[in-house]
Amino acid sequence: MKEARPIAVTLNLDAPAGDWLRLREEIRAAASSLGIDKIGFALADPFLTLKDRLIQRRENGYDCGFEEKDIDKRTHPELLFDAPLSIIAIAVAYPTRLPDPPRSEPGASRGIMARSAWGLDYHTVLRDRLGKLEAYIRERIPEARMESMVDTGALSDRAVAERAGIGFAGKNCSIITPEFGSYVYLGEMITNLPFAPDEPLEDGCGDCTLCLDACPTSAFVKPGVLDANRCLSFLTQSKDEIPDEFKDKMGNRLYGCDTCQIVCPKNKGMNWTHHEELAPDPELVKPLLEPLLTIGNREFKEKFGSGAAAWRGKKPIQRNALLGLGKFRDRKALPLVAQVLAEDPRPDIRATAVWALERMGGPEALEALDRAVLHDSEELVRKRAAESLARLKSE
Ligand code: SF4
Ligand code: SF4
Repeated sequence: MKEARPIAVTLNLDAPAGDWLRLREEIRAAASSLGIDKIGFALADPFLTLKDRLIQRRENGYDCGFEEKDIDKRTHPELLFDAPLSIIAIAVAYPTRLPDPPRSEPGASRGIMARSAWGLDYHTVLRDRLGKLEAYIRERIPEARMESMVDTGALSDRAVAERAGIGFAGKNCSIITPEFGSYVYLGEMITNLPFAPDEPLEDGCGDCTLCLDACPTSAFVKPGVLDANRCLSFLTQSKDEIPDEFKDKMGNRLYGCDTCQIVCPKNKGMNWTHHEELAPDPELVKPLLEPLLTIGNREFKEKFGSGAAAWRGKKPIQRNALLGLGKFRDRKALPLVAQVLAEDPRPDIRATAVWALERMGGPEALEALDRAVLHDSEELVRKRAAESLARLKSE
């Protein structure tokens, strides 16, 4: 039998196609030793279908404002990288279950961080994996040029992952891998290397509509099209007051929303615990709500700074904590919420405290709202307090 030709120690860019195929498979085989759970290869052609979709989204007002503004940059790899030939997509799977979750109890209400914010910030984790992959490739191809991107890069991680066969695009807008479900972090690297592409996967949703039906705010305009302005995941990260329509639906979500992934049958039983740095600290992913209201900047940074949920600072999380306390009608927290209304310098936070107090009700809440109507420095807060007061009194 003819022996397989050994993989060259280093490749030149003009090496024959067979060498590139062998190297591609060598990289794939090495992925898990680099801490990567799935790897796929795609051509670096423009993403023209995505471009049409993004233009349509913007025209319809479905953007959330966090995305790269320049649609050309998001869809044309050649604008980000000189003469790109391929994009390597990677996926790293994350845990979904707390081994011993602390319970939310009356007087000790807890919030919840979405799974994508458990453990070390996934940007840090993916950067580490892409760095290792770059080093691995450079050792074999000294002429390689590579540029890695994670979430904050211009390209759409999901579009790249879909093209590279990492997973299919679910109706819930997640990339769903057959091996790990949609509980994967995605990153990519544009290269000048002529890797042959992998095949995209077939759509796997079929007739299922569980995610669309389960969304608490009906944020899906249609399968695969999300109105980000209605999505709780984006709203938890916004810095302003949450619109009234969504306040109650926020529940105890402090950061992100997992509902449309939890209900997905493709995620059944998926819980990936093999990356140590992604292991959740139960007290951080289900923190007590009350202490969050008065947490200082330094303590916030110490506790949450290494996780993905801290990127917008403490204000959105404190606002969400107020909504959670209101939702739970946690009356033990009422004196502190009243103090927030009386003393917090941020009008959006005080307006949210008004909502929480109205939910809690009772003479102390009435008293706190009365004070705000008379003394708050912001018209918006006085107005909110007066409306809440009127509703409570009419009850
Ligand atoms: Fe709806 Fe939550 Fe999914 Fe957003 S993340 S679409 S709010 S279920
Ligand atoms: Fe697709 Fe059903 Fe999963 Fe939604 S819940 S992404 S429709 S399989």
